[in-house]
Amino acid sequence: MELPFAESWKIKMIEPIHRSTREQREQWLKEAHYNVFQLRADQVYIDLLTDSGTGAMSDRQWSELMLGDESYAGATSFYKFQAMVRKIFGFEYVIPTHQGRAAENVLFSYLVKEGNVIPGNAHFDTTKGHIESRHAFAVDVTIDEAKNTQLELPFKGNVSLEKLEKVLVENKGNVPFMVLTVTNNTVGGQPVSMQNIKDTCRLCHKYNVPVVVDSARFAENAYFIKTREAGYADKTIKEIVREMYAEADAATMSCKKDAIVNMGGFIATNNKQWYDGAMQFCIPFEGYITYGGLNGRDLNAIAQGLDENTEFDMLNTRIHQVAHLAAKLDEYGIPYQRPAGGHAIFVDGDKVLDRVPKEEFPAQRLTCELYLEAGIRACEIGYILADRDPVTHQNRFGGLDLVRLCIPRRVYTDNHMDVVAAAMKNVYDRREEVNHGVAIEWEAPLMRHFTVRLKML
Ligand SMILES: *Cc1c(COP(=O)(O)O)cnc(C)c1O
Repeated sequence: MELPFAESWKIKMIEPIHRSTREQREQWLKEAHYNVFQLRADQVYIDLLTDSGTGAMSDRQWSELMLGDESYAGATSFYKFQAMVRKIFGFEYVIPTHQGRAAENVLFSYLVKEGNVIPGNAHFDTTKGHIESRHAFAVDVTIDEAKNTQLELPFKGNVSLEKLEKVLVENKGNVPFMVLTVTNNTVGGQPVSMQNIKDTCRLCHKYNVPVVVDSARFAENAYFIKTREAGYADKTIKEIVREMYAEADAATMSCKKDAIVNMGGFIATNNKQWYDGAMQFCIPFEGYITYGGLNGRDLNAIAQGLDENTEFDMLNTRIHQVAHLAAKLDEYGIPYQRPAGGHAIFVDGDKVLDRVPKEEFPAQRLTCELYLEAGIRACEIGYILADRDPVTHQNRFGGLDLVRLCIPRRVYTDNHMDVVAAAMKNVYDRREEVNHGVAIEWEAPLMRHFTVRLKML
């Protein structure tokens, strides 16, 4: 008999979690203004809000904490971190920051000017925020097929070269860089192919536009290249990663994702001028350039995390769990962004609650229903997250309205995934009874989804 699949690790430490009653959850959600970000974590049974900073560190990462060098400048921890970033990504200059958005803040403070146009394959919300807050424009150039949630494509996160070229031609001299996000989070954790990465870099370079790779899930992207793209099956993840970055100009990284630490980020580049420019913003925002808002011990844990999460078995265990949840949802007929992405399943909110008008934010309503059903915290990646158009101030209903079931790395078992799927099925089975969504009572002008206050309709 062929042996079944099993995780490539065993568990050394556990953390208890607790169920609650529906009555309790109704009260708690009301107090949270129907925004699950405002729940207390101990009011949640299974927390799929995000995979950011919520992973379980390995025994080796915990040991690295003890070796942290907390010297203000020139700590050995910095050099260990810098050496690993250089080895994995092939970039010479490395600036640590306290998380991914801080890397954006530091680099964009140097690069982005008012009125600039910055194309990208669906900018992440903080990336968009850092562009728009500087009165520049983030233009989405993802392939159109990404919007069709039922289409099975191996690399649905790809850049449309046609759309990209149009932006580059129409805005000559006004595009400081292009943002290539791997994997493409906003359209469903979908990977970008090696071919598309190379074509994108070459097209940008033809117009003298540099490429900044938003790298949060670079290792998962490399896993999909290895398992889906012709010619890569026999390459190691580390070899694939080096090839992904070979023609790119810089990386911004949220280490809270694929470096499997609770906090951290960095900028990496071979461009000395960018390094010198960005460095000047690192010091006032993040701190001296060899710690960038991080403890020495954190830098050590990042180095170790980058090394172990660019090994095939670690990634295979993770992607297998995402696929396990996807298979359960298939069994129950629940529509989600196909194929399953690297870090999450994105359930199609407005297809599940198809009686709720888009002006009432169906995916947000579904997020609330899932919490009420079983204490599972998911996250709306839809019309609320999309914010308002900076010029017209209208809600942006042009994209997808998804509920993200985001899976922390090495934290939950497949049994937890089965509970999530069953809860989603129960909501799905009573979808005919949900005719209304939610309404906004208060919202922030940018990145409103974190703090928005809602009421149930
Ligand atoms: C998480 C993330 C960021 C921002 O990183 P933080 O560490 O949360 O500040 C930027 N881009 C992408 C694609 C991300 O997933």
